[in-house]
Amino acid sequence: MTESKNILTDTFGRKHTYLRISLTERCNLRCTYCMPAAGIPLSPKSHIMTYEEIYTIAKEFVDHGVTKIRLTGGEPLVRKDAALIMEKLASLPIELAITTNGVIVDKFIDTFKKIGLKKINVSLDSLNTDKNTFITRRDYFKKVYDNIQLLVKEGFEVKINCVLIKGFNENEIIDFIELTKTQALQIRFIEFMPFDGNKWDLEKLVSLEEVLKQVYAKYDASSFIRLDDAPNDTAKNYQIKGYKGTFAVISSVTNPFCDSCNRVRLTANGQLKNCLFSTTESDLLTPLREGKSITTVIGKAVQAKQKVRSGMDTIEKFKDLTSHNNRSMIAIGG
Ligand code: SAM
Repeated sequence: MTESKNILTDTFGRKHTYLRISLTERCNLRCTYCMPAAGIPLSPKSHIMTYEEIYTIAKEFVDHGVTKIRLTGGEPLVRKDAALIMEKLASLPIELAITTNGVIVDKFIDTFKKIGLKKINVSLDSLNTDKNTFITRRDYFKKVYDNIQLLVKEGFEVKINCVLIKGFNENEIIDFIELTKTQALQIRFIEFMPFDGNKWDLEKLVSLEEVLKQVYAKYDASSFIRLDDAPNDTAKNYQIKGYKGTFAVISSVTNPFCDSCNRVRLTANGQLKNCLFSTTESDLLTPLREGKSITTVIGKAVQAKQKVRSGMDTIEKFKDLTSHNNRSMIAIGG
Protein backbone atom coordinates (compact mmCIF):
# COMPACT_ATOMS: atom_id res chain seq x y z
CA MET A 1 0.00 0.00 0.00
CA THR A 2 1.33 3.45 -0.84
CA GLU A 3 1.83 5.96 1.94
CA SER A 4 -0.91 8.21 0.57
CA LYS A 5 -3.53 5.46 0.99
CA ASN A 6 -2.86 5.37 4.73
CA ILE A 7 -4.66 8.64 5.31
CA LEU A 8 -7.95 6.73 5.05
CA THR A 9 -6.93 4.02 7.52
CA ASP A 10 -7.82 4.92 11.10
CA THR A 11 -6.10 4.04 14.37
CA PHE A 12 -8.20 0.85 14.62
CA GLY A 13 -7.01 -0.36 11.22
CA ARG A 14 -10.32 0.37 9.47
CA LYS A 15 -9.88 1.32 5.81
CA HIS A 16 -12.32 3.94 4.62
CA THR A 17 -13.19 3.03 1.07
CA TYR A 18 -16.77 4.33 1.04
CA LEU A 19 -17.66 8.02 0.81
CA ARG A 20 -21.22 9.27 1.20
CA ILE A 21 -21.78 12.71 -0.27
CA SER A 22 -24.78 14.84 0.59
CA LEU A 23 -25.64 16.95 -2.45
CA THR A 24 -28.09 19.27 -0.74
CA GLU A 25 -29.76 20.09 2.58
CA ARG A 26 -33.06 20.60 0.74
CA CYS A 27 -35.76 17.95 0.47
CA ASN A 28 -39.21 17.64 -1.08
CA LEU A 29 -40.39 15.59 1.93
CA ARG A 30 -40.41 16.49 5.63
CA CYS A 31 -40.00 13.11 7.34
CA THR A 32 -40.66 13.46 11.06
CA TYR A 33 -37.77 11.18 12.08
CA CYS A 34 -35.33 13.05 9.88
CA MET A 35 -36.02 16.72 10.50
CA PRO A 36 -37.90 18.99 12.93
CA ALA A 37 -41.39 20.19 11.91
CA ALA A 38 -40.09 23.74 11.52
CA GLY A 39 -37.39 22.56 9.11
CA ILE A 40 -33.71 23.37 9.57
CA PRO A 41 -31.87 26.60 8.89
CA LEU A 42 -30.37 26.04 5.45
CA SER A 43 -26.78 26.98 4.69
CA PRO A 44 -26.48 29.98 2.36
CA LYS A 45 -26.08 28.84 -1.26
CA SER A 46 -22.51 30.15 -1.34
CA HIS A 47 -21.63 27.68 1.46
CA ILE A 48 -22.84 24.67 -0.52
CA MET A 49 -20.27 22.77 -2.58
CA THR A 50 -20.45 23.48 -6.30
CA TYR A 51 -20.39 20.54 -8.66
CA GLU A 52 -16.72 21.18 -9.46
CA GLU A 53 -15.90 21.22 -5.74
CA ILE A 54 -17.78 17.97 -5.19
CA TYR A 55 -15.79 16.38 -7.98
CA THR A 56 -12.45 17.72 -6.71
CA ILE A 57 -13.06 16.49 -3.16
CA ALA A 58 -14.41 13.14 -4.37
CA LYS A 59 -11.35 12.67 -6.58
CA GLU A 60 -9.06 13.34 -3.63
CA PHE A 61 -10.79 10.51 -1.74
CA VAL A 62 -10.65 8.21 -4.75
CA ASP A 63 -6.94 8.94 -5.19
CA HIS A 64 -6.47 7.74 -1.61
CA GLY A 65 -8.46 4.53 -1.93
CA VAL A 66 -12.22 5.24 -1.96
CA THR A 67 -13.94 2.76 -4.29
CA LYS A 68 -17.59 3.51 -3.61
CA ILE A 69 -19.55 6.77 -3.47
CA ARG A 70 -23.19 7.09 -2.47
CA LEU A 71 -25.09 10.29 -3.15
CA THR A 72 -27.61 11.35 -0.56
CA GLY A 73 -29.10 14.51 0.95
CA GLY A 74 -31.55 16.11 1.75
CA GLU A 75 -33.01 14.75 -1.43
CA PRO A 76 -30.10 14.46 -3.86
CA LEU A 77 -32.34 14.54 -6.93
CA VAL A 78 -33.86 17.97 -6.15
CA ARG A 79 -30.49 19.56 -6.78
CA LYS A 80 -30.68 21.22 -10.23
CA ASP A 81 -27.32 19.91 -11.36
CA ALA A 82 -27.82 16.40 -9.92
CA ALA A 83 -27.51 14.70 -13.33
CA LEU A 84 -24.36 16.66 -14.15
CA ILE A 85 -22.79 15.73 -10.79
CA MET A 86 -23.64 12.06 -11.32
CA GLU A 87 -22.15 12.08 -14.81
CA LYS A 88 -18.96 13.73 -13.57
CA LEU A 89 -18.55 11.37 -10.59
CA ALA A 90 -19.23 8.36 -12.78
CA SER A 91 -16.03 9.18 -14.69
CA LEU A 92 -14.09 8.21 -11.54
CA PRO A 93 -13.11 4.55 -11.01
CA ILE A 94 -15.80 3.92 -8.39
CA GLU A 95 -19.12 2.23 -7.84
CA LEU A 96 -21.71 5.01 -7.72
CA ALA A 97 -24.97 4.56 -5.80
CA ILE A 98 -27.78 6.81 -4.61
CA THR A 99 -30.25 7.06 -1.75
CA THR A 100 -33.44 8.88 -2.69
CA ASN A 101 -36.99 9.32 -1.46
CA GLY A 102 -38.13 8.22 -4.91
CA VAL A 103 -40.51 11.11 -5.58
CA ILE A 104 -38.84 12.24 -8.85
CA VAL A 105 -36.54 9.27 -9.46
CA ASP A 106 -38.38 8.35 -12.70
CA LYS A 107 -36.94 11.48 -14.32
CA PHE A 108 -33.39 10.15 -13.83
CA ILE A 109 -33.68 6.65 -15.27
CA ASP A 110 -31.94 7.61 -18.52
CA THR A 111 -29.10 9.28 -16.61
CA PHE A 112 -28.67 6.24 -14.35
CA LYS A 113 -28.55 3.95 -17.37
CA LYS A 114 -26.15 6.21 -19.26
CA ILE A 115 -23.63 6.31 -16.40
CA GLY A 116 -24.12 2.71 -15.23
CA LEU A 117 -25.59 3.56 -11.81
CA LYS A 118 -27.41 0.40 -10.70
CA LYS A 119 -27.83 0.59 -6.93
CA ILE A 120 -30.73 2.69 -5.76
CA ASN A 121 -32.02 2.87 -2.20
CA VAL A 122 -35.51 4.31 -1.89
CA SER A 123 -37.04 5.35 1.43
CA LEU A 124 -40.53 4.10 2.17
CA ASP A 125 -41.77 3.72 5.73
CA SER A 126 -45.32 2.51 5.26
CA LEU A 127 -47.43 0.74 2.65
CA ASN A 128 -50.42 2.80 3.71
CA THR A 129 -51.13 6.13 1.98
CA ASP A 130 -52.34 8.01 5.06
CA LYS A 131 -49.52 6.77 7.24
CA ASN A 132 -47.02 7.82 4.60
CA THR A 133 -48.53 11.26 4.36
CA PHE A 134 -48.33 11.50 8.15
CA ILE A 135 -44.67 10.46 8.43
CA THR A 136 -43.40 12.44 5.38
CA ARG A 137 -45.77 15.39 5.92
CA ARG A 138 -46.35 15.22 2.15
CA ASP A 139 -48.71 13.22 -0.09
CA TYR A 140 -46.49 11.26 -2.47
CA PHE A 141 -47.08 7.62 -1.55
CA LYS A 142 -48.49 6.51 -4.91
CA LYS A 143 -45.77 8.27 -6.85
CA VAL A 144 -43.01 6.67 -4.76
CA TYR A 145 -44.61 3.21 -4.82
CA ASP A 146 -45.06 3.35 -8.60
CA ASN A 147 -41.49 4.56 -9.04
CA ILE A 148 -40.19 1.63 -7.01
CA GLN A 149 -42.05 -0.76 -9.34
CA LEU A 150 -40.62 1.10 -12.33
CA LEU A 151 -37.04 0.85 -11.03
CA VAL A 152 -37.41 -2.90 -10.43
CA LYS A 153 -38.93 -3.35 -13.90
CA GLU A 154 -36.03 -1.42 -15.42
CA GLY A 155 -33.59 -3.83 -13.78
CA PHE A 156 -32.07 -1.62 -11.06
CA GLU A 157 -30.90 -3.13 -7.74
CA VAL A 158 -33.50 -1.59 -5.48
CA LYS A 159 -33.43 -1.51 -1.70
CA ILE A 160 -36.28 -0.03 0.28
CA ASN A 161 -35.19 1.79 3.44
CA CYS A 162 -37.89 1.55 6.08
CA VAL A 163 -37.28 3.26 9.42
CA LEU A 164 -39.20 1.37 12.08
CA ILE A 165 -40.97 3.38 14.77
CA LYS A 166 -42.95 1.77 17.59
CA GLY A 167 -46.68 2.37 17.32
CA PHE A 168 -46.33 3.59 13.74
CA ASN A 169 -45.22 0.84 11.40
CA GLU A 170 -44.01 -2.24 13.30
CA ASN A 171 -47.32 -3.86 12.35
CA GLU A 172 -46.26 -3.64 8.68
CA ILE A 173 -43.03 -5.64 8.98
CA ILE A 174 -44.57 -8.80 7.53
CA ASP A 175 -46.40 -6.84 4.80
CA PHE A 176 -43.06 -5.38 3.71
CA ILE A 177 -41.40 -8.81 3.74
CA GLU A 178 -44.27 -10.21 1.67
CA LEU A 179 -43.41 -7.68 -1.07
CA THR A 180 -40.22 -9.71 -1.60
CA LYS A 181 -42.26 -12.81 -2.50
CA THR A 182 -42.73 -11.65 -6.07
CA GLN A 183 -40.40 -8.69 -6.37
CA ALA A 184 -36.63 -8.84 -6.60
CA LEU A 185 -35.93 -6.07 -4.14
CA GLN A 186 -34.50 -5.85 -0.66
CA ILE A 187 -36.40 -4.40 2.28
CA ARG A 188 -34.08 -2.87 4.84
CA PHE A 189 -35.59 -2.23 8.23
CA ILE A 190 -33.63 0.52 9.98
CA GLU A 191 -33.62 1.02 13.73
CA PHE A 192 -34.77 4.55 14.56
CA MET A 193 -31.70 6.64 15.41
CA PRO A 194 -31.47 9.84 17.43
CA PHE A 195 -30.61 13.12 15.70
CA ASP A 196 -31.20 16.77 16.48
CA GLY A 197 -34.91 17.62 16.63
CA ASN A 198 -36.31 14.18 15.73
CA LYS A 199 -37.96 13.41 19.10
CA TRP A 200 -36.10 10.12 19.44
CA ASP A 201 -36.95 7.99 22.43
CA LEU A 202 -35.74 4.50 23.28
CA GLU A 203 -39.39 3.57 23.76
CA LYS A 204 -39.97 4.21 20.04
CA LEU A 205 -37.24 1.80 19.00
CA VAL A 206 -38.18 -1.39 17.14
CA SER A 207 -35.08 -3.52 17.51
CA LEU A 208 -33.53 -6.24 15.36
CA GLU A 209 -34.70 -8.68 18.03
CA GLU A 210 -38.31 -7.51 17.69
CA VAL A 211 -38.21 -7.81 13.90
CA LEU A 212 -36.93 -11.37 14.15
CA LYS A 213 -39.59 -12.22 16.74
CA GLN A 214 -42.30 -11.28 14.24
CA VAL A 215 -40.55 -13.22 11.49
CA TYR A 216 -40.27 -16.36 13.64
CA ALA A 217 -43.94 -16.08 14.56
CA LYS A 218 -45.02 -15.84 10.93
CA TYR A 219 -42.64 -18.15 9.05
CA ASP A 220 -41.60 -21.70 9.66
CA ALA A 221 -37.98 -21.86 10.93
CA SER A 222 -37.01 -24.09 8.01
CA SER A 223 -38.17 -21.51 5.46
CA PHE A 224 -36.27 -18.63 6.93
CA ILE A 225 -32.62 -18.19 5.78
CA ARG A 226 -29.89 -16.07 7.34
CA LEU A 227 -27.86 -14.91 4.32
CA ASP A 228 -24.13 -14.16 4.30
CA ASP A 229 -23.48 -10.47 4.79
CA ALA A 230 -21.19 -8.69 2.36
CA PRO A 231 -17.92 -7.36 3.83
CA ASN A 232 -18.56 -3.99 5.54
CA ASP A 233 -22.30 -4.59 5.30
CA THR A 234 -24.30 -2.53 7.78
CA ALA A 235 -27.23 -4.88 7.47
CA LYS A 236 -27.98 -8.38 8.68
CA ASN A 237 -29.52 -10.13 5.69
CA TYR A 238 -32.32 -12.69 5.48
CA GLN A 239 -34.59 -14.37 2.96
CA ILE A 240 -37.75 -16.39 3.01
CA LYS A 241 -37.06 -19.52 0.96
CA GLY A 242 -38.49 -19.29 -2.53
CA TYR A 243 -39.03 -15.52 -2.33
CA LYS A 244 -37.51 -13.42 -5.11
CA GLY A 245 -36.21 -10.67 -2.85
CA THR A 246 -34.56 -10.45 0.55
CA PHE A 247 -34.85 -8.40 3.71
CA ALA A 248 -32.36 -7.01 6.16
CA VAL A 249 -32.12 -5.16 9.45
CA ILE A 250 -29.78 -2.25 10.09
CA SER A 251 -29.35 -2.32 13.84
CA SER A 252 -27.22 0.78 14.44
CA VAL A 253 -28.69 1.25 17.91
CA THR A 254 -28.88 -2.26 19.41
CA ASN A 255 -26.06 -3.96 17.44
CA PRO A 256 -23.66 -1.39 16.01
CA PHE A 257 -21.36 -2.57 13.23
CA CYS A 258 -18.51 -0.13 13.89
CA ASP A 259 -15.76 -2.79 13.76
CA SER A 260 -16.20 -3.10 10.02
CA CYS A 261 -17.09 0.53 9.33
CA ASN A 262 -15.53 1.79 6.08
CA ARG A 263 -17.63 4.96 5.73
CA VAL A 264 -16.98 8.66 5.92
CA ARG A 265 -19.48 11.38 5.13
CA LEU A 266 -19.26 14.69 3.34
CA THR A 267 -22.05 17.17 4.06
CA ALA A 268 -23.47 19.45 1.37
CA ASN A 269 -21.55 22.38 2.88
CA GLY A 270 -18.27 20.54 2.60
CA GLN A 271 -17.77 19.26 6.15
CA LEU A 272 -16.27 15.82 6.65
CA LYS A 273 -17.88 13.65 9.33
CA ASN A 274 -15.91 10.59 10.33
CA CYS A 275 -19.01 8.97 11.86
CA LEU A 276 -22.77 9.42 11.51
CA PHE A 277 -22.87 10.30 15.20
CA SER A 278 -19.81 12.53 15.36
CA THR A 279 -20.32 15.98 16.83
CA THR A 280 -17.14 17.35 15.36
CA GLU A 281 -16.64 18.02 11.66
CA SER A 282 -13.65 18.86 9.52
CA ASP A 283 -14.02 21.70 7.07
CA LEU A 284 -12.77 20.68 3.62
CA LEU A 285 -14.47 23.44 1.64
CA THR A 286 -12.66 26.45 3.13
CA PRO A 287 -9.13 25.15 2.52
CA LEU A 288 -10.20 23.94 -0.94
CA ARG A 289 -11.48 27.43 -1.81
CA GLU A 290 -8.27 28.94 -0.46
CA GLY A 291 -6.32 26.74 -2.81
CA LYS A 292 -4.80 24.73 0.04
CA SER A 293 -4.36 20.97 0.20
CA ILE A 294 -7.16 19.05 1.94
CA THR A 295 -5.16 15.83 2.27
CA THR A 296 -3.91 16.54 5.80
CA VAL A 297 -7.35 17.62 7.00
CA ILE A 298 -8.87 14.37 5.70
CA GLY A 299 -6.11 12.30 7.32
CA LYS A 300 -6.56 14.00 10.70
CA ALA A 301 -10.32 13.52 10.59
CA VAL A 302 -9.97 9.80 9.85
CA GLN A 303 -7.33 9.38 12.58
CA ALA A 304 -9.69 11.03 15.08
CA LYS A 305 -12.48 8.50 14.44
CA GLN A 306 -13.58 6.79 17.64
CA LYS A 307 -14.02 3.05 18.02
CA VAL A 308 -17.80 2.99 18.44
CA ARG A 309 -20.46 5.53 17.33
CA SER A 310 -18.39 8.57 18.17
CA GLY A 311 -18.13 7.49 21.79
CA MET A 312 -21.78 6.47 22.23
CA ASP A 313 -20.82 2.91 22.98
CA THR A 314 -23.95 2.01 24.93
CA ILE A 315 -27.65 2.61 24.26
CA GLU A 316 -27.79 4.48 27.58
CA LYS A 317 -25.53 7.17 26.13
CA PHE A 318 -28.14 7.90 23.46
CA LYS A 319 -30.49 8.99 26.22
CA ASP A 320 -28.30 11.96 27.12
CA LEU A 321 -28.51 13.63 23.77
CA THR A 322 -28.26 17.14 25.17
CA SER A 323 -24.55 16.49 25.55
CA HIS A 324 -24.37 15.00 22.07
CA ASN A 325 -24.98 17.89 19.76
CA ASN A 326 -25.24 16.41 16.27
CA ARG A 327 -26.95 17.76 13.13
CA SER A 328 -30.41 16.70 12.02
CA MET A 329 -30.21 13.69 9.70
CA ILE A 330 -31.48 15.85 6.82
CA ALA A 331 -28.24 17.85 7.04
CA ILE A 332 -26.00 14.79 7.32
CA GLY A 333 -27.35 12.48 4.67
CA GLY A 334 -27.94 9.11 6.31
N1 SAM B 1 -33.82 11.96 0.73
C1 SAM B 1 -33.19 10.70 0.64
C2 SAM B 1 -34.10 9.63 1.23
O1 SAM B 1 -35.20 9.93 1.66
O2 SAM B 1 -33.69 8.45 1.22
C3 SAM B 1 -31.80 10.63 1.22
C4 SAM B 1 -31.54 11.28 2.53
S1 SAM B 1 -32.20 10.42 3.93
C5 SAM B 1 -31.59 11.43 5.22
C6 SAM B 1 -31.21 8.96 3.99
C7 SAM B 1 -31.73 7.85 4.83
O3 SAM B 1 -31.67 8.21 6.20
C8 SAM B 1 -33.15 7.48 4.56
O4 SAM B 1 -33.23 6.12 4.20
C9 SAM B 1 -33.85 7.69 5.87
O5 SAM B 1 -34.85 6.75 6.09
C10 SAM B 1 -32.72 7.55 6.85
N2 SAM B 1 -32.98 8.22 8.12
C11 SAM B 1 -33.29 9.51 8.31
N3 SAM B 1 -33.48 9.77 9.63
C12 SAM B 1 -33.29 8.61 10.28
C13 SAM B 1 -33.35 8.22 11.65
N4 SAM B 1 -33.65 9.09 12.60
N5 SAM B 1 -33.10 6.94 11.96
C14 SAM B 1 -32.80 6.04 10.98
N6 SAM B 1 -32.72 6.34 9.68
C15 SAM B 1 -32.97 7.61 9.32
